[in-house]
Amino acid sequence: MARKPVLQLSRVERHYGEGDTKLSILKGADFELRTGEIVALVAPSGTGKSTLLHLAGLLEHPDGGEVKIGGRDCNGLSDEQRTAIRRVEIGFVYQFHHLLPEFTALENIMMPQLIAGLSRKDAMGRAAQLLDYMRIGHRAEHRPAELSGGEQQRVAIARAVANAPRVLLADEPTGNLDPKTAAYVFDALEALVRQSGLAAMIATHNHELAARMDRRVTIDGGKVVEL
Ligand code: ADP
Ligand code: MG
Repeated sequence: MARKPVLQLSRVERHYGEGDTKLSILKGADFELRTGEIVALVAPSGTGKSTLLHLAGLLEHPDGGEVKIGGRDCNGLSDEQRTAIRRVEIGFVYQFHHLLPEFTALENIMMPQLIAGLSRKDAMGRAAQLLDYMRIGHRAEHRPAELSGGEQQRVAIARAVANAPRVLLADEPTGNLDPKTAAYVFDALEALVRQSGLAAMIATHNHELAARMDRRVTIDGGKVVEL
């Protein structure tokens, strides 16, 4: 049976500026991400990787075209509805971890669950499980500043998937890490996606990691192209 698309971009347009200074970043980009797959987005700086991920993650609006999450067109929705979908269906990981500095690793992963209405006990249980899954259970009580770069990113990934989203979007999540640590973080991310039936799109400059993903795409002439 063909797996369901969880993220669909159709004829997506994104332009910055006006007139002479108008910059067309995406010009009718099509892309589909299916349950269980991990896709690498490999393209030079400035070609629109972050733009594409932000549109897919409902952090920005396209200037044209459609963004569907779980088969639902998100364009016509109110900001509140988009936020609700983002909270439940989408996990986002940035190059820099963006963890809350005053809170422990465990609390950082509990936070989105508490916002979603889970009890402290349930949120803590799930956070502890995710930390174990990312092989940093022994770091639960540490604050971000007391963690290594690789550990910080693993906590950020655990936080992104805490509410069991359908889609994980990661913008150069290992960009600040040395190759060995990057590979280790990617191992944990991959295991998580495989066991949870998530779908992931990961922007990366690391060709070794990209080679390990299910598919590779790039951005060329404002369109998404298979590599
Ligand atoms: P990448 O992530 O591949 O490096 P980005 O998506 O960040 O690329 O940016 C693509 C292009 O769009 C770049 O040339 C960038 O300068 C431009 N850009 C991104 N955001 C804005 C913005 N808010 N206003 C104007 N230009 C922008
Ligand atoms: Mg970028």
